[in-house]
Amino acid sequence: MKSKYADLKENNNLDKIEEAAQFIKEGKLVLFPTETVYGIGANALDTNAVSKIFKAKGRASDNPLIVHICNTQMLERLVLEIGEIEKTLIENFWPGPLTIIFNRKSCIPNNVTAGLETVGIRMPSNKIARKLIELSNLPIAAPSANISGKPSGTKIEDIIDELDGKVDYILDAGMVDIGVESTVIRVVENKVHILRPGKITKEDIESLGIPVIIEKQIMEECKSHEKVMSPGMKYRHYAPNTKCLLVYSHDNNKLVDKINEEIELEKNVLVLGKTSNLNKYKTQNKLDMGESLEDISKNIFTLLRKVDKYKVKLVIIEGVKKEGLGLAIMNRLIRACEHNYIEVN
Ligand code: AMP
Ligand code: MG
Repeated sequence: MKSKYADLKENNNLDKIEEAAQFIKEGKLVLFPTETVYGIGANALDTNAVSKIFKAKGRASDNPLIVHICNTQMLERLVLEIGEIEKTLIENFWPGPLTIIFNRKSCIPNNVTAGLETVGIRMPSNKIARKLIELSNLPIAAPSANISGKPSGTKIEDIIDELDGKVDYILDAGMVDIGVESTVIRVVENKVHILRPGKITKEDIESLGIPVIIEKQIMEECKSHEKVMSPGMKYRHYAPNTKCLLVYSHDNNKLVDKINEEIELEKNVLVLGKTSNLNKYKTQNKLDMGESLEDISKNIFTLLRKVDKYKVKLVIIEGVKKEGLGLAIMNRLIRACEHNYIEVN
């Protein structure tokens, strides 16, 4: 059966969001926009509803979900304590693309947290997401909207084929704002550990005088048996079927030269590059990533979903500096390329 669909691109039809909120209350799945990527939401307090998310996505049961809330009263009902650093982060970055790991209360079902004693919580800034949570008056557990392993959904056209009929309701608000998933952090011994980089950066958090540690596993290859602070890091993610190569140099001329060298070797290639570099590449097949880090972050998942259609031997992707939002972009790209990465000095 096809999913129920509401087009909210022109205005935020409250009656449609109300109907979707009713679906959440009834234990059904609602695909909804957030400022980062689309999510597949269910009542976070209902084990059965949550298990439908894992089924719809084909998600491994040891990969926990983020719980979305719309006010701090909801937070207090879900977590054991809120530390001083967490309070500062909430004041500065909520609502927004920051997920904070807390010690959880037992009202949160085990399948939400994959059995962990902690839970990841976020207050999204997207108005439709907030309204949906508010009207259902429930915390909503929601992973990114995609079949597990595929790039996260940033617009409905990209994901409708794989998710239509697997969720009960689709709220379509057009293209999301940010395009990469939230920053995930955990406070340990008065330091913020970044478990997954996103739009809220190390620099943003440090500007509040809080020390930040970037987990080294963010850019490394994790083996499935390894213990990681953020279970999602060990899974294959974002990778197209076509082989991909990520290339980076701090020197733009060297970057373009290296990519042209690789084009020469393989010939049948597609390049994903910045707008200002595209005409420098000696191949017909090119996709425009945009120019700024904000552009690239917004476009990257849609582009990764297009590459298999080109039927090339190799996809070469321009890397960016691993700083600020660039770290989040590189974290997704390195996984899309399954760690097939060249850095030229
Ligand atoms: P997604 O829902 O696809 O954006 O993925 C959410 C990611 O957040 C997971 O893959 C985990 O890596 C991370 N996460 C969620 N809950 C926790 C938690 N309790 N502890 C550590 N990481 C978490
Ligand atoms: Mg995901």
